[in-house]
Amino acid sequence: MAKLNENFFKLKKNYLFIEIAKRIREYSDSHPQEAKRLIRMGIGDVTRPLAPVVVEAIKKAADEMQYRETFRGYEDSGAGYDFLRKAVSDYYKSFGAEVSADEIRISDGAKSDCGNIIDIFGSGNTVLVTDPAYPVYVDSNVMSGNEVIFADSTEENGFAAMPDKSVRADLIYLCSPNNPTGSVYTTEQLREWVNYALENNAVIIYDAAYEAFITEDNVPRSIYVIEGAKKCAIEICSLSKTAGFTGTRCGYTVIPDELVQKDSAGNDVKLADLWGRRQGSKFNGVSYPIQRGAEAVFTQEGQKQCRENISYYQENARVIAQTCDELGIKYTGGVNSPYIWLKCPNGMGSWDFFDMLLTKIQVVGTPGAGFGKNGDGWFRLTAFGTHEATKEAMERLKDLLKK
Ligand SMILES: *Cc1c(COP(=O)(O)O)cnc(C)c1O
Repeated sequence: MAKLNENFFKLKKNYLFIEIAKRIREYSDSHPQEAKRLIRMGIGDVTRPLAPVVVEAIKKAADEMQYRETFRGYEDSGAGYDFLRKAVSDYYKSFGAEVSADEIRISDGAKSDCGNIIDIFGSGNTVLVTDPAYPVYVDSNVMSGNEVIFADSTEENGFAAMPDKSVRADLIYLCSPNNPTGSVYTTEQLREWVNYALENNAVIIYDAAYEAFITEDNVPRSIYVIEGAKKCAIEICSLSKTAGFTGTRCGYTVIPDELVQKDSAGNDVKLADLWGRRQGSKFNGVSYPIQRGAEAVFTQEGQKQCRENISYYQENARVIAQTCDELGIKYTGGVNSPYIWLKCPNGMGSWDFFDMLLTKIQVVGTPGAGFGKNGDGWFRLTAFGTHEATKEAMERLKDLLKK
């Protein structure tokens, strides 16, 4: 008989998006007329198409696959083609982080690496996750039987949890700009986390999936602009939100050469070597045409075209934030992030507010309670819709709440 990984039974039910879908369905069935004007501001997926230079590069690469001379099969290392790793390295340089091409591994996206990275760590680690958080961090650790403790992100700390020196952790997940709260760590705050990790010999797993949305100067685009970070941090990034690659699939993970931990015999072990071994056994790389498409993202023209899409979303974020300002609603995010995390008015719970927006103005958002206990009473709106729908939703919200 095959024994099961019964850690799966400890996972919280994948309840959030199922429950949202269920409530929308029930409402639509009973109110077919109203349901026609539904505006969805809950989904964390992009809506703008790929940049034309990216599509051109993918097509060109697909053509190469047609001829024996230019056909490509398995990639030698599975770590990504040099052309792309070099492009990512140069990109890091453009915002002041020194990351060599050798320290970068190309992936099929950030979610898989955020989950798989725990393969290189043993059992018995204390894993620290901020609450609320992107569910992958907790779920993947629960699946592996790891103990997860939480650092509270709350209204009081601007939803940017800081280290508690009295708590010891071995692995720390940070996400800035944050999903779901849109909050960010400033350089000073991130430095505190890096120092905490160095003092505890802990490893930070830094999810930078939204770095391209950063607009403020004192908010780092990479943890590696902080001194000492290369000794304690793994950075995981993705082209999903930067360049609309949610359906195309490409990301990159940085494990610096200097990131070393001791094994139980006291020997220094490079984490990059372990990850290389893990990926070598279980991963065969990202498709060649997609890596060419990703390379195009980092060209001058690619950056220009991708920035236009990001600006489009940023304009939506500005409209949502402005509406909250007008209504006197507290929120985080919107400035360096496509997410606005708002406090439900009049002390409402997340799900009550969800139902009110759905039934009164046919706007769908995401109840904060689905991202952790500190999310209750909070609500996430995303800027990934069209200008027209975003403006319309905000007009309806004003009509509803101004009275
Ligand atoms: C969207 C998102 C990602 C990106 O995941 P991919 O697998 O690269 O699409 C990573 N982390 C967070 C927090 C996200 O919201």
